[in-house]
Amino acid sequence: MLASSIKGKSVIVTGSSKGIGKGIARVFVRAGAKVLVVARDIKAAEAAVKELTREGGTASAFAADVTRYPDLQAMAKIAADRHGGIDVLCANAGIFPQARIVDMSPEDWDNVLGTNLKGTFLSVKACLPYLQKSKAGRVVLTSSITGPITGFPGWTHYGASKSGQLGFMRTAAIELAKHGITVNAVMPGNIKTEGLDGLGQDYLATMAASIPLKRLGSVDDIGHAALFLASTEAGYITGQTLVVDGGQILPESLEALKDL
Ligand code: NAP
Repeated sequence: MLASSIKGKSVIVTGSSKGIGKGIARVFVRAGAKVLVVARDIKAAEAAVKELTREGGTASAFAADVTRYPDLQAMAKIAADRHGGIDVLCANAGIFPQARIVDMSPEDWDNVLGTNLKGTFLSVKACLPYLQKSKAGRVVLTSSITGPITGFPGWTHYGASKSGQLGFMRTAAIELAKHGITVNAVMPGNIKTEGLDGLGQDYLATMAASIPLKRLGSVDDIGHAALFLASTEAGYITGQTLVVDGGQILPESLEALKDL
């Protein structure tokens, strides 16, 4: 059982007050891990902890901004103090504002790259001293299909940041292998988070229609993929990506989706 190797492990999930991060945290809490729920808004992180532990389990909240290294050093220390070390870092926090190149300011670019890409590096760096002490250290990045595989108008900065995470991952996997730490990434397709709820049923139905499995992903779908990559059983997998998208990237044209 994959989940059994997670029981008792100390897990940090950045950006877990809502959305995909909360889904990842939920799957780890259910598997018996001790989870640090991290976001900038401590009230939202605390509310998520309350929700995630309603049926039992161990989780606590911490406020940190992944663009600020001192915050992340404090996050790593708190996780180690509260939970006896760090075994798994899920570097998930990310933002996705949209702006086409013609309208995008240099600051817009820096904001997205600073959070999504530099934030990934800073999170890993801060946790490294503790991950090295774990018997099976794991880093799981939340990348995306957008950037590494697909494109979408308004997301040049976002796509670059999500591709950049994979470049970071491949060299990090080599550097950290000597400590027995693996570094892998999940690449979600369109996932149904709270943020999409406001877009309306018609919009969601149109999105689902372009996906061979005919539904948007759930946050738990991403959580299960992260759990696998963090498990003992995945110990020989490093520097790899796992696309979790219901087949969204497969159709070579709209014709491929006809009559399904
Ligand atoms: P979301 O619902 O907007 O949640 C983002 C989370 O990250 C929140 O907890 C937020 O809390 C936190 N966060 C944002 N900026 C932060 C910062 N500077 N420091 C610390 N925490 C920060 O987003 P989501 O849709 O779940 O996306 C999560 C990840 O999945 C992102 O990396 C995104 O690129 C990736 N992804 C999402 C989709 C999708 O369909 N939703 C698809 C592919 C990839 P605070 O605002 O309180 O900090």
